[in-house]
Amino acid sequence: MAKRLAEVTKDLCAACGCCVKVCPRNAITIHEGKYALVDVGKCIGCSLCAKECPASIITIKKLEVVA
Ligand code: SF4
Ligand code: SF4
Repeated sequence: MAKRLAEVTKDLCAACGCCVKVCPRNAITIHEGKYALVDVGKCIGCSLCAKECPASIITIKKLEVVA
């Protein structure tokens, strides 16, 4: 089984908060005002945040989950 997960390139994040607003699972927070942090337990890999990010620094990663 594969799980899809959003991954932020933290060094390039402007902490604008655009991704936070569109996430249907409230899985993203801005960590210490510096970069977007994804809660892996909440993220469903829907990619809405990746489409919204003005810097295009969110990628959706596929993780293989061993059942
Ligand atoms: S991929 Fe979807 S669920 Fe995951 S952090 Fe982005 S908007 Fe939220
Ligand atoms: S939308 Fe992009 S630049 Fe803005 S906080 Fe989210 S990851 Fe960072």
